[in-house]
Amino acid sequence: MLTDSFGRVATDLRVSVTDRCNLRCSYCMPPEGLDWLPGPGLLTDDEVSRLIAVAVQRLGVTEVRFTGGEPLLRRGLTGLVAAVAALHPRPEISLTTNGIGLARLAGPLAAAGLDRLNVSLDTLSRQTFKELARRDRLPDVLAGLAAAAGVGLAPVKVNAVLMRGVNDHEAAGLLRFCLDRGYQLRFIEQMPLDAQHGWRRTDMVTADEILARLADGFSLTPDDPGGRGSAPAETFLVDGGPGRVGVIGSVTRPFCGTCDRVRLTADGQIRNCLFATTETDLRTPLRNGADDDQLAAAWRGAVATKLPGHGINDPGFLQPTRPMSAIGG
Ligand code: SAM
Repeated sequence: MLTDSFGRVATDLRVSVTDRCNLRCSYCMPPEGLDWLPGPGLLTDDEVSRLIAVAVQRLGVTEVRFTGGEPLLRRGLTGLVAAVAALHPRPEISLTTNGIGLARLAGPLAAAGLDRLNVSLDTLSRQTFKELARRDRLPDVLAGLAAAAGVGLAPVKVNAVLMRGVNDHEAAGLLRFCLDRGYQLRFIEQMPLDAQHGWRRTDMVTADEILARLADGFSLTPDDPGGRGSAPAETFLVDGGPGRVGVIGSVTRPFCGTCDRVRLTADGQIRNCLFATTETDLRTPLRNGADDDQLAAAWRGAVATKLPGHGINDPGFLQPTRPMSAIGG
């Protein structure tokens, strides 16, 4: 098992399969993009599959989520999903994507074994999308969402980040759009993970504000009477249900005490927290011929040192040097 010194057990593995993205969302990266990881430094498909197998078969990981960067840009993604689906025990397999290309890939991914997915959608305005993501791709995202639902990857979850003065007036509109289509919307507080280090606490639209905006048009009833467990989203029934909405207050309502996540970057580094300032290199031992026991031991060591919290609200908080796109959101 992947246990840390505070007794938390990591069972949810986030695998970044590329740091590249075809959008340039302003809360994530600058308009010109980033210096992408060099090709030879990226894990090959076989290396990714091998590390996931170690995590699932030796370390108790029960959910594998592919992310990035934009995971649909990785040519071998469908094969990776199929390889994970063939593992015993078979983990849950999910994907976080911006939806561009999903219209074509939703079917093959579902056939390969993908169980569910989250699609990021911050606005329904083509103009705002163009400004926020710096690409005119809203129609592709909407087509991707429809395709995912069409091939049965339900319930499709939608992730939205609200930014003050940009799209924060769209909370109710996004919720109505998702309710009408059976998508489950989750708002995520903007976190200090942008490559430009431009995050300001005062600009962040907080969970409280999001709920206040939604309360204007909808009646929300808490839907997690037993507590949210390790789920980051606080969920609410909308207008008595069955529709639901989630709010992930990563900054103002942190859930570190029940965090069950661990991350593998596209270049083979283990991160025990999104906000970790250190990583554990598995690529070097992997390429030097380490056996599965040795890789598992290194991985256990990486998780053992997980800090109690992400520290965003601590004085002297230091934003990780790796941006979200490289860590894998
Ligand atoms: N490209 C994929 C996508 O768009 O979903 C996967 C990677 S993206 C980094 C994963 C999620 O992180 C997206 O929902 C995105 O909106 C969110 N995200 C990125 N930067 C963020 C930030 N600074 N604060 C909060 N969420 C962020």
